[in-house]
Amino acid sequence: GEISNGISKKEMKIPEIKFTKLFINGSFLDSYSGKTFETIDPRNGEVIAKISEGNKEDVDLAVKAARQAFDHGKWPRMSGYERGRIMMKFADLIEQHKEELAALDSIDAGKLFAAGVHGDIPHSLNLLRYYAGAADKIHGETLKLAGEYQGYTLKEPIGVVGHIIPWNFPTTMFFLKVSPALAAGCTMIVKPAEQTPLSALFYAHLAKEAGIPDGVLNVVNGFGHTAGAAISSHMDVDAVSFTGSTEVGRLIMEAAAKSNLKSVSLELGGKSPLIIFDDADLDMAVSLASLAIFYNKGEICVAGSRVFVQEKIYDAFVKKAAENAKNWVVGDPFDPRVQQGPQVDKQQFEKVLSYIEHGKREGATLLTGGKPCCGKGYYIEPTIFTDVKEEMMIAKDEIFGPVMSLMKFKTIEEAIEKANATKYGLAAGIVTKDLNIANKVSRSVRAGSIWINCYFAFDADAPFGGYKLSGFGRDLGLNALDKYLQVKSVVTPLYNSPW
Ligand code: ADP
Repeated sequence: GEISNGISKKEMKIPEIKFTKLFINGSFLDSYSGKTFETIDPRNGEVIAKISEGNKEDVDLAVKAARQAFDHGKWPRMSGYERGRIMMKFADLIEQHKEELAALDSIDAGKLFAAGVHGDIPHSLNLLRYYAGAADKIHGETLKLAGEYQGYTLKEPIGVVGHIIPWNFPTTMFFLKVSPALAAGCTMIVKPAEQTPLSALFYAHLAKEAGIPDGVLNVVNGFGHTAGAAISSHMDVDAVSFTGSTEVGRLIMEAAAKSNLKSVSLELGGKSPLIIFDDADLDMAVSLASLAIFYNKGEICVAGSRVFVQEKIYDAFVKKAAENAKNWVVGDPFDPRVQQGPQVDKQQFEKVLSYIEHGKREGATLLTGGKPCCGKGYYIEPTIFTDVKEEMMIAKDEIFGPVMSLMKFKTIEEAIEKANATKYGLAAGIVTKDLNIANKVSRSVRAGSIWINCYFAFDADAPFGGYKLSGFGRDLGLNALDKYLQVKSVVTPLYNSPW
C-alpha cells in the first residue's frame, strides 16, 4: 500500500523481524521470567515486536557464559591476527545485509534509512575493520629500569566487559564498544537501550556466523534499572563501558564502586558550542549549524545545541538559518527527500516539547518551528530560539532534540568564556578562516572533540570522549583499546638474581 508521503511499502523496505530473544552463549533464548516488552515504531506509535526482557537472572547467565569463554575459551587465546580475520568476516557479513539492518534502525529509532545505509553502517564497518587491523598490533613496551633489572609490559584483555548503550545510534554505538573489546580479546555482554533492541540481535546472529565463539558476544535486552543495573553491579564483570545520560553514568559508577570496583568509562551528555566568527562563509556556516543540531533529529550527544554567532554576521545568520529551518524536510525516514525523522519515542517527544515551552516562558524568542508536525508520529519541527540567555534552561540542559539556541558575541575571549560556561565538555565547532582564531579557540575550549570548519567529523582513528560532566575514557582511536586491556609489568634481574 501507499503511505501518506507517496512511497510504497515495498520501496520502504520494511524488514521482517527475525530476532527477538536474548542472545546468550551462542543461542537465542527466552528470558528466565518469560517476560517480553514491546518495541514501538516512532513513525506511528505502533508496536513492532515483542522482545524478550532480560533481568538479573539472564545477566547472570550471560556473564557466566562470557566468564567461561574468557577463562577457558579460544577467543582470548588465539592470535590477534586470527581474531582480526574473524572480525573482518563479521564486517563482510554485515555489509551483505546493509539495507535490512539500516531499516531495522529506521523503524526502531526513526533514523533516516539513507543515513543508515550511507552513514551508520559504513561507519560501523570502518570501526570493525579498523580494530580488526589493530588486533595483531597490541603489544607492550620494554622498560628502562634503574637497577640491574630488565622489564617489559604485557597488555592483556581486561576480561568480561559490559557495554551499556543508548538508543540514538543503535548500530554505531554497538560497534563503537564491541569492536575494540573484541580486538583486545575480551568477552562481553551488550545491553542495548530498551527503545532500540532490534539490530543488536541481528549483529549477534552474524557474529556467530562469522565464527566468533559462543559466549564471547552476548546480547541481553531489557531495561536499565534491571538488566543494566545487574551488569554494573555484577561481581564477575571486569569493566563497564557506558554511553548515555550523566544521571545514569553516576548510578553506574556508584554500582561499580559498591560491587567489585570494575573499571568504568562513561560517555555522557553534552551541550556543545558551535562558534561562528564574522569572517565565516555565511552559507557554509548556516548549513553546518543546521546539520549540527537537526541531524538525527538532534538526538546526538555532540549536537551543536548552543550556536554563538559574532555580532557583524549575526543578523544575516539569523535570517538565513530561519529560512533553512523552514525548508528542512521532516517526515518518514524512508523517504529519500526527508532530512529529519521522528523523535525516538513519546517520552523524548514530550520532553523536547516541554523544553520548547520553557524556552518561550523564560523569554527566548521562538524564531521558527516549535510544534509537533507530520501526523501521528513523534515528529517535531526544526526549532530555533534567539535572544537566548546563558542562565535559561534551554541554554544549559541537554535537550536531545532539534532545538537550536542562538546567542550573539563580540570578542574571541567572550566566545571562549561562553563556550566553556557549561557543565559539559564533549565537543565544539569553530567556523572561521582565520588560523589564529581557530588555534586559539580550539586550545581554550574544554571539550574532547574540536571540529574546525566541519562538524560530526568522526573517524575510527580520532579518539572521542568527554571533559567535565560529559564523562571520562575515550572511545574510538587506538586509545579505546586501553579500556579493554590490563597492563602487566614483568621484571627479571639482568644478570644473577640478587635474592
Ligand atoms: P537516555 O537518557 O539517552 O535514554 P539513559 O542514560 O537513560 O540514556 O540510557 C542509556 C542506557 O543506560 C540504556 O541502555 C538504559 O537502559 C541504561 N540504563 C538506564 N538506567 C540504568 C541503570 N540504573 N543502570 C544501568 N543501566 C541503565
